[in-house]
Amino acid sequence: MALILDGNRIRDQIKSECRPRVEQLIAKGRAPGLAVVLAGHDPASQIYVRNKVKTSQELGIYSETLTPPESISTAELVALVEELNRRPEIDGILVQMPLPAHVDAKRVLLAVAPEKDVDGFHPCNVGNLATGRPGPKPCTPAGIIELLKRYQIPIRGKRAVVVGRSDIVGKPAALLLLHEDATVTICHSKTADLPGVCRQADILVAAMGRAAMITADFIAPGATVIDVGINRIDNRDEVARIFRGSAEKLAAFDRNGSVLVGDVHPIDVAATAGAYTPVPGGVGPLTIAMLMVNTIDSAERRIGVC
Ligand code: NDP
Repeated sequence: MALILDGNRIRDQIKSECRPRVEQLIAKGRAPGLAVVLAGHDPASQIYVRNKVKTSQELGIYSETLTPPESISTAELVALVEELNRRPEIDGILVQMPLPAHVDAKRVLLAVAPEKDVDGFHPCNVGNLATGRPGPKPCTPAGIIELLKRYQIPIRGKRAVVVGRSDIVGKPAALLLLHEDATVTICHSKTADLPGVCRQADILVAAMGRAAMITADFIAPGATVIDVGINRIDNRDEVARIFRGSAEKLAAFDRNGSVLVGDVHPIDVAATAGAYTPVPGGVGPLTIAMLMVNTIDSAERRIGVC
């Protein structure tokens, strides 16, 4: 039986470690402060932001959500970020992606002060990550490493294959695994013989946004499989195909009108892997937990606790 890597359990551990740190900061003068910028009305973004704010509040982190209209220009958004840069009680600034199509997202991310960049997306922090210097690490990849370490899954000397080369997940996940002394291969849509490359992995990270694409023939028996993908399936036949007629999943679809699936085939991975993250309840919960850690780290540096 493959071991299920429970992201909710690790998230709760991380949150309980955050609480005394927040209390110490409050005792020193003030709570950590997180500002979230949500431009437009993307429904998924609204849910993500709500969850981030809720978790901040649970931990005693001051949080503020700025909701400029969809029509905001790049220059106005840059000015808004610069204002947050100047506010001393704000330790972390998160600009929720995607931004409205007409906005130059790169320019907006560049405007975030690197010391308040709790997403780790600023080129300065990308450079820090690439060169192994201290700094905020992108939350989802940092969560993957936390999960592996807390489950004591060896990384050093292991072969890690990351499928996906985005700036948000794939590339930083590969760099973090490299810093942990894995031998890392990065794959993408032009990789030849993807199943063959994936089968070499002791640790396989799937971050493509392709529902259930990683089937048994991609997975070496006993491998650890980390599924980053979040895909919402809103077609009943597709649910029946992916979950091979599972009555439970079809009932869930009939209740909710959709079902979530990762990039890894949920039935194949359970039968083939040694350990794996489920979707939902695997990597997802860790992303917000690591955002809290990055915000507290930033506050500690700025208030002078560490
Ligand atoms: P992107 O779309 O930015 O990147 C996808 C990557 O996957 C690209 O590098 C692309 O290759 C590669 N890819 C796409 N199709 C294939 C294929 N058929 N074979 C091989 N490689 C392929 O996605 P993100 O990195 O932002 O997100 C990936 C997934 O992770 C999504 O499902 C997203 O929802 C989820 N996600 C989950 C988070 C969480 O908290 N759990 C957080 C962030 C993302 P190429 O570069 O050649 O186009």
